[in-house]
Amino acid sequence: MSNFKTCSLCSKEWSSLEELLEDSAMDFGGYQAFPRHPERSLLLFTHKADKCGTTFSFKIDTFTKFARKPIKFSEFEFGKELDCEGHCLDTNNLSPCHSKNCPGRELRDLLQVVKSKMKADEAA
Ligand SMILES: [Zn+2]
Ligand SMILES: [Zn+2]
Repeated sequence: MSNFKTCSLCSKEWSSLEELLEDSAMDFGGYQAFPRHPERSLLLFTHKADKCGTTFSFKIDTFTKFARKPIKFSEFEFGKELDCEGHCLDTNNLSPCHSKNCPGRELRDLLQVVKSKMKADEAA
């Protein structure tokens, strides 16, 4: 059986991305955007198991198969001309971007799909 990911601290193994997302001990805690290289953006997960608590990251291309639309990975502009709601570069904010023109929007839409696949306790 193939192994998708092994926790570097507690050695728990997940055989697939789906299995990892459905593990209630997994907490989707952050999203690190790289405006100049959006295809390298990282999704950050914490393994909230006993004696663990380590955080690991996956490149966004691990998740693009879940995207509702193909992702273009446009570079961000950084400037104020962007009608972004301002959280597209905030690592701790996983909210969608409702801007029409922000290049971060499609990536943030993908975050919502990933969240919907998780069974983690909302109150955590
Ligand atoms: Zn672990
Ligand atoms: Zn935005």
